[in-house]
Amino acid sequence: MKRLYETPAYGPQGACWWAETVDDDTWPQLTGDLHTEVAVIGGGFTGLSAARHLARDGVSVTVLEAEHAGYGASGRNGGFCCLGGAKAPGALLRRRFGEDGARDWYACERAAIDTVARILDEDGIDADIHSEGETLLAHSPRAWAAMQDEAPQVAQDYGVDPVLTPRDGLRQQGLGGPWHGAMTIPLGFALNPRRYHAGLARAAQSAGARLYGQSPVTGLRRDGKWQLDTPQGRVTADTVILATNGYSAEDLPSWLRARTLPVQSSVIVTRPLTKDEQAAQGWTSAQMAYDSRTLLHYFRLMPDGRFLFGMRGGLRATSRANAAIARQIRADFHQLFPAWRDVEITHDWQGLVCLMANLTPFVGPVPDHPGLFAGLGYHGNGVAMASHAGALLADLVQGRRPAQYPAAMQAEPKRFPLGPYRRALLVPAYLAARAFDL
Ligand SMILES: Cc1cc2nc3c(=O)[nH]c(=O)nc-3n(C[C@H](O)[C@H](O)[C@H](O)COP(=O)(O)OP(=O)(O)OC[C@H]3O[C@@H](n4cnc5c(N)ncnc54)[C@H](O)[C@@H]3O)c2cc1C
Repeated sequence: MKRLYETPAYGPQGACWWAETVDDDTWPQLTGDLHTEVAVIGGGFTGLSAARHLARDGVSVTVLEAEHAGYGASGRNGGFCCLGGAKAPGALLRRRFGEDGARDWYACERAAIDTVARILDEDGIDADIHSEGETLLAHSPRAWAAMQDEAPQVAQDYGVDPVLTPRDGLRQQGLGGPWHGAMTIPLGFALNPRRYHAGLARAAQSAGARLYGQSPVTGLRRDGKWQLDTPQGRVTADTVILATNGYSAEDLPSWLRARTLPVQSSVIVTRPLTKDEQAAQGWTSAQMAYDSRTLLHYFRLMPDGRFLFGMRGGLRATSRANAAIARQIRADFHQLFPAWRDVEITHDWQGLVCLMANLTPFVGPVPDHPGLFAGLGYHGNGVAMASHAGALLADLVQGRRPAQYPAAMQAEPKRFPLGPYRRALLVPAYLAARAFDL
């Protein structure tokens, strides 16, 4: 398998806090041959949600995961179940898909959050949820002015009333810090992603799905039916769903070549903060929050008092690049939350999100590949959108026209320029973003 990053990006998960919060959820390795109606490659939210919905509809479904349960981005994200999934700005969405197409996309973002809420409810999953919507914090006076200008458009796009809080009201709301104002959009909630993942896996299994770990698909071809090779087994399937997102290979299948741009994201988690420590910083809120920088920081105080803080990762995955990003994330954390400078950071990890050249996700049948479907490219916001994509794929595979399936996610993804060197595109993008964020 050809992949874009250095080997460590696909190595062990690192010191990920979430792994310590679930009971053993080991999936067996596939040995021998089996037939299934639908084979899913990748056991994250996309793959498991597809499997859960298909199995509940009585379809025989088998998930093949290369590593352990929760290995990919789904087991190591920030747990923001929120709006998002595309990077295309509103004006571009309107130009490409028309007013109705843009409206459909925004409705889909809302529906994606509802999909997760529905799964948690129907399957009785306790995922430590908190936060009433999401709060965007202005990092500069200019950003605060822009936020106030944009609020009416947000209200129109999502059909909710965002709440604007000026600088002098933030501390009172437990949102103390170097912010110039905030906008809270009352949609979404925070969750423990690994508990959600484990619950989703249990739900899929109890509906009849077969889940295998340590079973990388190393060969994929169509010979009447689809044949999937793993090191110890082989699966024959009528239909295949590709759910590998940022961990996709360039050549499995070759259609994927240069159609995704995986990007690293980094997270740190502190030990539980005492009430006094929280008060010293002025951050006592349970809101999930992010700042208005283009290269944004995202953070939240979790129910057990630990603080999670995330930002972009390095452009490379060498040990030198990883050490540099570990220093950078600590420096940014200490700059924004100086009262916690001496608080121990107990966990620290990175993972891969997935950008697309079209700046929108792709969910649907892969052109010119009968029986092959894909769901990927959530631009770092896939807790809700990947879960929703899985539900959409379950419908599409069964020949049903899904609800909340906007044109924006149906266009075949374009290839990025520069092929195997396309990470170089991120260098000017990051430099420009950094200058803009000043
Ligand atoms: C650090 C970080 C923080 C994030 N924070 C947030 C957040 O707060 N909110 C949010 O909405 N989104 C967040 N995201 C993004 C979100 O986690 C992803 O968009 C989402 O989990 C994607 O789910 P997925 O199932 O499509 O892919 P993944 O969860 O990445 O799963 C893909 C799986 O495919 C497997 N795979 C790859 N190749 C093969 C093969 N050949 N055979 C078998 N299996 C294979 C991989 O091992 C992997 O487990 C974050 C991501 C990262 C990395």
